[in-house]
Amino acid sequence: MKLYPLLTMLFFLLSCGSQTQPKNKQMPEKVLYEELTPTEFRERLAEAPVAYLPLGTIEWHGEHLPLGSDGLQSREFFIRLAQEAGGIVYPMLFMGPDRREIVNEEELYGMDLNYGEEADKKYYPTQKLDGSSYWIAEADFKIMMEAIMKQVSRSGFKILVAHGHGPSTGFLIDHTEEWEEKYGLKILHCWGHRDKEGMGIMVDHAAMNETSLVMALRPELVKMEYLPADTSEWPVGVGGKDPRLWASPDKGKEILAIQQERMVNLIAETLAGIK
Ligand SMILES: [Zn+2]
Repeated sequence: MKLYPLLTMLFFLLSCGSQTQPKNKQMPEKVLYEELTPTEFRERLAEAPVAYLPLGTIEWHGEHLPLGSDGLQSREFFIRLAQEAGGIVYPMLFMGPDRREIVNEEELYGMDLNYGEEADKKYYPTQKLDGSSYWIAEADFKIMMEAIMKQVSRSGFKILVAHGHGPSTGFLIDHTEEWEEKYGLKILHCWGHRDKEGMGIMVDHAAMNETSLVMALRPELVKMEYLPADTSEWPVGVGGKDPRLWASPDKGKEILAIQQERMVNLIAETLAGIK
């Protein structure tokens, strides 16, 4: 009986120790550009001249995911990459190109437009989806991206990893050769491995892949209960495998583990190639 207070004291001391000492050691590395002092910037740049640019949008991602899902996924993934492979993460963009059409005198973008047949299980009527606020013409996006490339290069980075919103990433891929030459950068993106089976980074729209990733990266932002409970009713503005049946935090963690290992190796190889 008398042991109890002693044990309590011992546990108290042990838990105090574990909260103060290792906490400092476990402090996550600061990698967000806007949080670095010039000294911290110089140190990180010298260690690995790698910049990360999350290509975001403010765009409908189903009733269950946040409107900034694209930038949130790529930024959180890039934070992990920068902490392991080195480098600095730029603030996320929120404007991006997409298909655009005028329907009944209304300007519609991306997932607003559904060209499917009404008989298709995944059909939903074309409509202006709430909250989307991101569209920019390709010509203007090019001007913006080139201004960013110039600044990335001027700051001393040698590698730029940019990824996120599908059409923005596609646009980057189409201009990689031109921009690498013009700005003296090596430009990487995150597609290209196991994308077809849904195990890549952002390879559907608010479906199994993106929902699993947000569940793993920012679980507090996912509201599965906002989707129709009846799975015969297709969720509006969702493209891919039904997130209600296929998405899970574990799936997201599995994708992140596979892709983080691959990207860290790719960045290290690219760095070795330019040194
Ligand atoms: Zn997305």
